[in-house]
Amino acid sequence: MKLSRQFTLFGSAIFCVVVFSLYLMLDHLQLDRTKNPSSGAGKLFHSGQLTILQEKIDHLERLLAENNEIISNIRDSVLDLSESVKDSKGSPEVGNQSRVGYPELLASPPLVIPIQQEDCHFAAKPYNKPADGMLDVYDLLSFDNPDGGVWKQGFDISYNENEWDTEPLQVFVVPHSHNDPGWLKTFDDYYRDQTQHILNNMVVKLHEDERRRMLWSEISYFSKWWDSIDSQKRDAVKSLIERGQLEIATGGWVMPDEANTHYFAMIDQLLEGHQWLERNVGVKPKTGWAVDPFGHSPTMTYLLKQAGMSNMLIQRVHYSVKKHFAIQKTLEFFWRQTWDQDTTTDILCHMMPFYSYDVPHTCGPDPKICCQFDFKRLPGGRISCPWRVPPQTINDGNVKERALMLLDQYRKKSKLFRTHVVLAPLGDDFRYNEASEWDQQFQNYQKLFDYMNSHPELHVKAQFGTISDYFSALRPAAAVDPVSNTSPLLPVVSGDFFTYADRDDHYWSGYFTSRPFYKRLDRVLESHLRAAEILFSLALASVQKANKWNDFPSLENYKLLTEARRNLGLFQHHDAITGTGKDWVVVDYGTRLFHSILNVKRVMANSAHWLVLKDKGAYIHSSSMPLLQMVTRNPFLPLSLVIYNPTEQDRWSVVTVYVNTPRVRLQTASGHAVTAQVSAVWEETTRASREAFQLSFVAQVPALGLTVYRLTEAVELRTVPVDYTFLKQHEELSVDSAEPFRVDIPQDDSLPISIENPLIKIWCSATTGLMERVKYKEGGVEHKVEVGFVWYGTTSNRDKSGAYLFLPDGEAKAYTPNHAPVIRVTKGVVFSEVTTTYQHVTHTLRLYNVQGIEGQSVEISNTVDIRGEFNREIAMRITSDLNSSDRFFTDLNGFQIQPRRTMAKLPLQANFYPMTTMAYIQESGVRLTLLTAQSLGVSSLKSGQLEVIMDRRLMQDDNRGLGQGVQDNKITANLFRLLLEKRRISIRDSQTWSYPSLLSHITSMYLNHPVIPMVVSPNYDSLTFAPLSPLRAALPCDVHLVNLRTIQAKEGAGPSHEVALILHRRGFDCEFSNRNMGLLCSTTQGKLPMGKLFSELSVQSVTPASLSLMHTLDGGRSQEEIQLKPMEIRTYRVQLR
Ligand SMILES: [Zn+2]
Repeated sequence: MKLSRQFTLFGSAIFCVVVFSLYLMLDHLQLDRTKNPSSGAGKLFHSGQLTILQEKIDHLERLLAENNEIISNIRDSVLDLSESVKDSKGSPEVGNQSRVGYPELLASPPLVIPIQQEDCHFAAKPYNKPADGMLDVYDLLSFDNPDGGVWKQGFDISYNENEWDTEPLQVFVVPHSHNDPGWLKTFDDYYRDQTQHILNNMVVKLHEDERRRMLWSEISYFSKWWDSIDSQKRDAVKSLIERGQLEIATGGWVMPDEANTHYFAMIDQLLEGHQWLERNVGVKPKTGWAVDPFGHSPTMTYLLKQAGMSNMLIQRVHYSVKKHFAIQKTLEFFWRQTWDQDTTTDILCHMMPFYSYDVPHTCGPDPKICCQFDFKRLPGGRISCPWRVPPQTINDGNVKERALMLLDQYRKKSKLFRTHVVLAPLGDDFRYNEASEWDQQFQNYQKLFDYMNSHPELHVKAQFGTISDYFSALRPAAAVDPVSNTSPLLPVVSGDFFTYADRDDHYWSGYFTSRPFYKRLDRVLESHLRAAEILFSLALASVQKANKWNDFPSLENYKLLTEARRNLGLFQHHDAITGTGKDWVVVDYGTRLFHSILNVKRVMANSAHWLVLKDKGAYIHSSSMPLLQMVTRNPFLPLSLVIYNPTEQDRWSVVTVYVNTPRVRLQTASGHAVTAQVSAVWEETTRASREAFQLSFVAQVPALGLTVYRLTEAVELRTVPVDYTFLKQHEELSVDSAEPFRVDIPQDDSLPISIENPLIKIWCSATTGLMERVKYKEGGVEHKVEVGFVWYGTTSNRDKSGAYLFLPDGEAKAYTPNHAPVIRVTKGVVFSEVTTTYQHVTHTLRLYNVQGIEGQSVEISNTVDIRGEFNREIAMRITSDLNSSDRFFTDLNGFQIQPRRTMAKLPLQANFYPMTTMAYIQESGVRLTLLTAQSLGVSSLKSGQLEVIMDRRLMQDDNRGLGQGVQDNKITANLFRLLLEKRRISIRDSQTWSYPSLLSHITSMYLNHPVIPMVVSPNYDSLTFAPLSPLRAALPCDVHLVNLRTIQAKEGAGPSHEVALILHRRGFDCEFSNRNMGLLCSTTQGKLPMGKLFSELSVQSVTPASLSLMHTLDGGRSQEEIQLKPMEIRTYRVQLR
């Protein structure tokens, strides 16, 4: 029965994919028809079809929403009471338990985490300011926008003719083609219409003249093309690479966005690209190339460095910052991590000086001149120069004049840099797709180069080059010491390049939030993919050890993982996770994400099947009748639950599953009764389901382990029902509840509402249901923390907010509902919550009755629906009594913290920054952190405030090429946690670095990686299961297992016997309390005993490698103990058996 349900779910998903293809086809038809409005009959047929398809899409939307709901429910998990403590006390009869107060189970590990004093030095150490911080640059700049002449955002550049007499100008023209893996078209459509032709022509045209060069960076496209070409062509490509004519730069699956992406996914897409390159082409990229991401993060820089790259290029940086760097001649610098205390993270970076990466903005400061050297724009072609002076074909008659004109631009550009080497990229979006364009560009430029190079009096050497050719010439010219990687000529810069503005007050802070539904979906796939990778790797090693390699469906599962890696990788593209694609492109991405979420769940279930089976001899894999499946809405009792903890810490977490009766009994595998709370499933605001109930309990699961519980029907009520109170101002309420819940509708509705757990108490307004105050019981500290909602509109100027830009009509206006909201207060043994239902948002504040990690913060979930709005954005604003002044802190990619300053000299929209996992404000002794489970835009516009934009609906395009607004809003669930922490000593606010506490790190990990319940199919009820503890002990508190990713085999599509173990040692601030956090880990100065890491599996070999496995590092094959520096991410090639 359940089997058929799962089958139906998969069936529906596949069905939806098919329907979408149809829909996309029809959508194209519709576009064609708009161009040709005469076919009236077709229109009729079409609209009928569309209605049906619209319904199908609604169906998918519901599926996606349900999935989201399931995941939210999984996330209801929280840590608490030690199941082991309870077990040791015997089995209390929970049915008799009192409804009030907390049961005795709340005892949690009485813990003070043993933190070695040495582990605190890193965050506490004041060190010499090593680099020019970007925050200081922001202080310095006036952000005026004067007209700079031909270089509008810059200044006039002059030079002396004889400046290059002793050392000639060396020009590298770097041909490139920027291929977005989805934007105005889907990935597949771009490939079919443009990309395959670019690459096919490349092979022919580069072979025609060995002086020609080309740069490529997106492996998603390159690999798709590779699969379609024969071995002869492949050999031709390899020879181009060997000869240095074709360079693969960066070599990631995509050129990722750097604002919304989490470092897990950034690494994963880089690894996928590099693994593909290693296996198919045998090339190791040396240089990073990022011309289009909308602002740049030092996290990307760090990852490139760890992957073995030594140079990089960036482009989209605020025009005022570019100008400042150009004046200082600091556009080339060593980019250093803010937390780096020596030079180990330095990477040589070139920042492009002008407005864009297209040809008019790359040869020099004057776009009117440079455009004349884009030979695709020759008269008679499809595109022309907007400056109205067309290019001329180069011939003997004009070559001198044209060469001198171009050289003038090169010379002026070189004046912005400190060496005689100049870089001139030559390309644009989807360029070089026609053979004629190759001829136009390469032949005309070659004539110009020949002229320049044959006239020694010009003192120039011009040539085609790759980006690495450029850096190879730059390094000696800048006297970079090859050993120390330092230069007397180049400065060191630290910090990030957000928030990007390309002109005027056009700040690109809208895309930090655009299409939040998909930003959330992305994070759900990330956590599921990571969980599946780890479990699959453990299962594979165990299967191998048991000599059952052939019985386990390793190939089938590895293919699913590979596809999921690639779908996740694709979504990291700077028009995907950013929410800046066309509607149908967004649907294409969403379908891929959703499809892969289902697939990696299958991988998890298949892997857990082997691992949890007590008698491995009884193992039989059946793909039509899997042992395990994900939790469904209507379970068939009795059943066994298998709970998987994908985090590297032992964990007590609340698991919520659906049951069809409150009369159930929950037991551990060893038969001990477990306290379980039962709550209603509210089908409408005041109507509870009579068929479905939620069962919540605290599961104890070891690090990376599996635990088994047994759920049976009971004659009596053995669960603890929650109590409900409903309020609505000035109105009669009737609530349609179900047995066995008590519902109270108080007559006096003016009293404030409060909920509490052993650690925290919060008070909410009885009118709005929103939080007003919070009290931490230990020490009795009480703070005003008000949560509320506000609206932003869009400006009445010509340029309005769109997918990229945030252009508000001034400050936000308070959210004022038309009707008083219904407030539902739930009090239970496992959690208590206040849910308030407004027209546009259902807002829940939840406290877990737990003394461990998750009892320390307030969970906030918002279900946002602004589908009926017009040019509006909704934000959640938290207003506290903290005196945070103009300072706040946001994370970058979940990897590091960047201090921020709210600046009055900047427009409101410029003060918004990306938030991937957290943002905080602080005053001396207190810090308030908002942790998030999805990327959104955040700011602190006033002292004591934090606000997050949750969704935006915008009716128009914002003139950045997308050609549409954002009107495909969905009902979106956003999840947060709010954490208030006491700090021991007062905080120096002038620091350019900051770290979260350990509690904050681990709370974030729990939020992003919930425990995953699976159910055993009733067909296998006779089997016995054993819990799994794969690690001998939890990892140190500050070490995060980023991934345990099975490496591909040398041949075929299956797995090898090796895994990539990727570890991150987090930087943390020791000045926060580490008492009673509910953690059973300690810190170890980053040391990890590899030989004693796993309980049953043994580590056969450990080989240190670069981040993406491209390079093997020194340190021998067999390391008994490894050690990570604070903040370091390291990869090891490991053999397990
Ligand atoms: Zn792009």
